Amino acid sequence: MPDASQAGSSAPLADSFGRRIGSLRISVTDRCNLRCVYCMPEDIPWLPRAQLLSLEELARVARIVVASGVRKIRLTGGEPLLRRDLPTLIELLAEIPGLDDLALTTNGTQLARLAGPLRKAGLRRVNVSLDSLDRENFARMAQRDVLAQVLAGIDAAAEASLAPVRINCVPMRGVNDHEALAFAKLARERGFEVRFIEFMPLEHGDRWGRDVMVAGSELRQRIDAVHPLVPDPGCDEHSPSRDWRFADGAPGVIGFIDSMSRPFCAHCNRIRLTADGKLRTCLFSVREHDLRELLRRGASDEEILARLRAVVATKELKHHVGDGLYVKPERTMSRIGG
Ligand code: SAM
Ligand code: SF4
Repeated sequence: MPDASQAGSSAPLADSFGRRIGSLRISVTDRCNLRCVYCMPEDIPWLPRAQLLSLEELARVARIVVASGVRKIRLTGGEPLLRRDLPTLIELLAEIPGLDDLALTTNGTQLARLAGPLRKAGLRRVNVSLDSLDRENFARMAQRDVLAQVLAGIDAAAEASLAPVRINCVPMRGVNDHEALAFAKLARERGFEVRFIEFMPLEHGDRWGRDVMVAGSELRQRIDAVHPLVPDPGCDEHSPSRDWRFADGAPGVIGFIDSMSRPFCAHCNRIRLTADGKLRTCLFSVREHDLRELLRRGASDEEILARLRAVVATKELKHHVGDGLYVKPERTMSRIGG
């Protein structure tokens, strides 16, 4: 097993269970213009700007992490497109040697304006969150009446070749789960990858429950009954998503991120950086590790890498939702960076 304390060496980042870290999620802001009912409360105080890592600080951490073997970076938030100068950050990241995959998860409301500039800056693909194809239902879930803006954003992403366009949908029972077939139709007609993400207990408040969450297997059966599905042979073992294609050869992919009903912790190769510079080794971590202080007191790259290795060594074996040991993290999804 790699020695996680080999600071400064070129040994890959690995945790104490031998999982090699290949993916970093960076939250670039905690702010958002929507209030999805499974995520964010109406009245949440934003982090003071001075606490956010600057674009240069974010890019520096990214360079160090990529030099130690991370190949994928995804930007998220909050709503990442609200971060001023996001295309500049994309430019800084796109030029890092060794970074194979640079992606972004967005609510799509600003994409019509920004898809072109982001593509030009070096972004290759986007995931757009879309929980309903019905205007009123969308407005109930996002607590903002902006479905038309999001659909225009998705069109702009496709036109700008931010491909494949992926759609993320969080199904909630009795709220939007009846739209599963409409989403399958969207995938088939537009060649999109639609991913259903199981609702996780990381929301503000206490809406989560096994009765509200809809397991991926249930949706898969419902879609399969109308449009038979076959496993996608190209599905990556480190991807949290189990992907399926249409048996009749129609384009599009349907994926299921079954973090609750079928956890994939054994294959998890991710770490996360919050907008205020805290490293998290798991979405469900109750501990965070401050990098900002190191960055701002002039630490060398070697010192930062040593800290990264020490933190990665503490990565949790698995999450504890459902086994009686679960403690909800203090930060909710929009502040962690989903
Ligand atoms: N604002 C951007 C967006 O909505 O795509 C990026 C941040 S958002 C936190 C990232 C993803 O997390 C979205 O696809 C969202 O649907 C998902 N998400 C948020 N809260 C969740 C929860 N409690 N359970 C499952 N997924 C959640
Ligand atoms: Fe905002 Fe994304 Fe959370 Fe919705 S899921 S409230 S868009 S951060």
